[in-house]
This record gives sequence, structure tokens and C-alpha cells, in this order.
Amino acid sequence: SYGAFALDDEMAQTPENAYALLDKLWQPSLELAKKELEEMKAIKKAETGDDSFESWDWWYYAEKVRKQKYDLNEEMLRPYLSLDNVVQGIFQLSNRLWGITFRPVSVPVYHKECIAYEVLDKDNKHLGILYFDFFPRPGKQGGAWCGAYREERYEEGKRIAPVVTIVANVSRPATPNGVALLNLDETETLFHEFGHALHSLFSQVHYAGIGGVEQDFVELPSQLMENWAFEPDMLRMYAKHYQTGDPMPDDLIEKIQRSALFNQGFTTTELLAASLSDMDIHTITQYRPIDLNAFEKEMLNGKRGLIPQIEPRYRYPYFAHIFGGGYAAGYYSYIWAEVLDKDAYEAFVESGDIFDRTTAESYRKNILERGGSEGGMELYKKFRGHEPDIKPLMIKRGLIEIPADTAARPAPLDTAARNASIRRIIGQQ
Ligand SMILES: [Zn+2]
Repeated sequence: SYGAFALDDEMAQTPENAYALLDKLWQPSLELAKKELEEMKAIKKAETGDDSFESWDWWYYAEKVRKQKYDLNEEMLRPYLSLDNVVQGIFQLSNRLWGITFRPVSVPVYHKECIAYEVLDKDNKHLGILYFDFFPRPGKQGGAWCGAYREERYEEGKRIAPVVTIVANVSRPATPNGVALLNLDETETLFHEFGHALHSLFSQVHYAGIGGVEQDFVELPSQLMENWAFEPDMLRMYAKHYQTGDPMPDDLIEKIQRSALFNQGFTTTELLAASLSDMDIHTITQYRPIDLNAFEKEMLNGKRGLIPQIEPRYRYPYFAHIFGGGYAAGYYSYIWAEVLDKDAYEAFVESGDIFDRTTAESYRKNILERGGSEGGMELYKKFRGHEPDIKPLMIKRGLIEIPADTAARPAPLDTAARNASIRRIIGQQ
């Protein structure tokens, strides 16, 4: 099948391996989504007396649940998430983990809003140059990404340092004194892109041709960085009020933590449904004309019991990723990489210190420096000592409870509170 062909040189190797992961997550996600549905049905019934619930009701009532249960208004957070604080927070995090520093540097820029830093290793050795281009402007592509003007390589035994850029479109300064205040999503995005940048900056690969990694591995470094973004200890470090300098109050920090579980059943199910659709269509081995919509319905709603209130995130006629987007038989890689990043982060948590330098050093040596010089699974096992475990991801998405033995470890998160909120959400309280 095309799927077998496409996955042959990816980390997953075969569609069966990708399916094994998707299938393992499917039932727990669906069960959680059904509980979310029941909760919302009850609200709708109480408000309108109407028993029915359609897919288009979902977000309307989900917002009510969000207000009732989590009471989190993102606008309350913005004053603590100034662009400058977030960037400095990322720099401080990198300094704590690897001892690297960032020095503003004057280099040619393609637009007056670009800024650049020289990135220095712990021994002050030059690692590379990092550009930032933060704000939207007419003619600029939307979204956020990380790229390289020059990739790292070696020439005659000498390292040619990478020149890396992070491009984003975060909120422009809206305050009178010109401070850009970000929301949670924008903050997380900067941590994400910075993870890609580190992958380039730390690279110690000798041949440019093996600098790249498998598609289902490439989001590990970026997604891993997201894990720190909203840790209480991290927020206390960088999330300071842009006017008063006060740290973010604990009740806001707790709200951020708890709301991470909001609507996770739905989010996971729609993501998995699209991943399955992609793999289903690409593992057909014999051509036969099919009715795509009927095929989707049969595979998702018929065979796998998807509830009609949830649509897959993408449906075949507009699933651009799997046509020209380079994600044909590759959409599973988002959740695949999330298994990796959640398990990798667990290594820091297990060490008893989310800023543990020994773990960070091993992660740098075994993964960030190595590019595609070995297969992703080999690199991963060298860092972690074992294959990635799916459990940390399931906990993070509220699909299982935190095992009792982890309550004893010196976790940076308030495990008891998180456990309680998971129980509340899955209705076991
Ligand atoms: Zn990415």
C-alpha cells in the first residue's frame, strides 16, 4: 500500500505500528468525549428542555462548560505574558538546562522589525545565530515556523555554524507604551518554535545530507519545549506583570493547569479520527472506485463507533495535508511525536527536577546534536533508556488517571490537584 511505502523510512516503519498507537488511544478518547457530551447534554436540557444534541451544539456548550468549570479568561493572563517576558523566559530556561546564553547582535536583517542574537555555548563558544521576526504585517505569511538560512555542517574539520530564524505572527503591541501582550497559544507557539531552533543550533552533524530527521520525529524537540511553558515553576520565573512586575498569582497558575484538560476527549477524538481516515485511505491495496464519504462513515462511525456529534478534524474532500501537504499517510505523526515528547519530558520529571542538567545534557547529546545520523528510535532509546511509553501522553490528555506511585515523587505539578481535576472531568467524583 502507499502507507507501507511512505512509512518505510519513518520512525513508525509500518502502518501497523501507526495503527497500533491510534487504536490504543481511540477507545479511551471516545469514552472521555462521550462523558463530555453527557455533561453538555445536561446543560442543554436544563436550559432548553431539548434532549437532542448535534455536532454544531458542541462548541457552544463546551464554552459554557469552560466558564463553569475552569473560570479561565485568557485576557486575565495577557498582562503576565509580555513578549519580552516570554522570550526572556525561554532564554532563562535554556540557560538553566544547558548553560547557553543569548547576546543581541548586529547583523544584516531583511526587515527592520527582525532582531538577532548570537547563541553562545556554556563555554562561550559560538553555537549559531538566531533571528526573530515576531509580528504580522502586510505581505507576510501567516502562522509560525522555524527555518534556517544556513544549516550546520562541517567543512575541513571545522563546524560551520547554523543561522536560524523563528518567524511568528503574535499580537502586536496594543498597550500605550508599546508592550506586546501574548495569549497562551502564542506563548506556547514561541516555546514550540524555539525547540526546533535548538535542534538546529545544537546540531553537530558532519554531513548536511543527514541533518534532517524522520517526519514523525521532527516535532519531538519542538513539542518537548511546550511542556515547560506553563509549569508553575516556569511561570513564576517569567510570567511577571508588565506594569507592576508582580509574578502571576497562584490561582491563575492553577487555572491554567486545570484548564489543560478542557475538552480533551473531543480534541483527541477528532485528531485521531483524521489520523485514522488518512491511514485508512492509504492502506488500501487494490484500486476500486469508492464513495469517499460512505467509506469514511463506514470506517469511523461503523467500524470504530465514532459518535455523530464529533466530526473528524478533516474530511476527505478537504484534507489538504494528505494530498499536497506532505502528510499522506503521515497525519498520525502529530500524536506519534506527542507520545515521544510527553515521555521525554517524563525523564525530567522523574529526575525530581524539571530543570535537571544531567537529563538535559543527555537529551542534547543523544538527540539534539545528532540530526538524522541514526534512526529516531535508536536516538530516543539512547536518551531515555527504553522505547517511549504512551502513559504520560494519556495522563496529559486526561485519558487515564495518574498512577498512585507517581504521587510520591517530587513532581513540580500539584499531582493531587491534577488528579482531582481529572477525576472531576471523567466523572468519578
Ligand atoms: Zn513544529
